Amino acid sequence: MSEPSKININRRGLMFVLSSPSGAGKTTLSKLLREWDPSLGLSISATTRSPRPSEVEGEDYLFVSTQEFLKQRDRGEFLEWALVFEHYYATPRKPVEQALDAGRDVLFDIDWQGAEQLRESARDDVVTVFVLPPSAQALEERLQKRAQDPPEVVAKRMAGAGNEIRHYDVYDYVIINDDLEQSLKSIQAILIAERLKRNRQPGLQEFVSQIEKDLILGE
Ligand code: ADP
Ligand code: 5GP
Repeated sequence: MSEPSKININRRGLMFVLSSPSGAGKTTLSKLLREWDPSLGLSISATTRSPRPSEVEGEDYLFVSTQEFLKQRDRGEFLEWALVFEHYYATPRKPVEQALDAGRDVLFDIDWQGAEQLRESARDDVVTVFVLPPSAQALEERLQKRAQDPPEVVAKRMAGAGNEIRHYDVYDYVIINDDLEQSLKSIQAILIAERLKRNRQPGLQEFVSQIEKDLILGE
């Protein structure tokens, strides 16, 4: 799926939030979305949990001690933070603000508590998408297939999935991630449409004025 227009209108960056119960597929979808549109920035969260075998410091997360996390939180360095499965997670404020100021959109893989805090602080700039698994069984199979967490962690995440899922009803969009390709198409469609919203294109006024002037001159 390609972008509709190559004309460059000054835009305000948006915050594109993906949430889901662990294992429903948001990390996979985030990666595919950023391959499709490399201009989309990714907010790299800080966390106090240990890295999974495949995770890379600074790419997947900023892995920090609880002491360091609390210090940064108390200095106001996070846009939002939450306790999820007994570990702290947070969005560092500075890189997000820099990207938005430069007109870049930023993707967030955060839970419902984080989505709620972003909505409260920047409603007009936040678009939220909830990713549901096609069934409880598929969710468990995916958590097991990922094979990155020990069985007791998988069990804890399955037990917590109901609590995450019940927050789907405050999200702007909901995707049932059954067929991955179809889910990616849906997320691309949401991003394209949200970027075209009039209030996200402050440069439109100048663009239209120029067309109006050219029309008069052409008369
Ligand atoms: P999350 O980030 O939501 O915890 P992941 O993106 O890590 O979930 O996905 C969990 C597992 O499910 C991964 O092994 C991934 O390859 C797989 N997966 C993701 N989406 C689908 C899908 N639509 N169909 C089948 N497997 C999927
Ligand atoms: P995981 O440990 O599987 O990477 O993530 C567990 C949960 O924490 C997921 O629901 C993920 O979206 C959420 N999460 C990751 N980073 C952040 C963050 O910065 N803030 C919040 N609120 N949640 C996060």
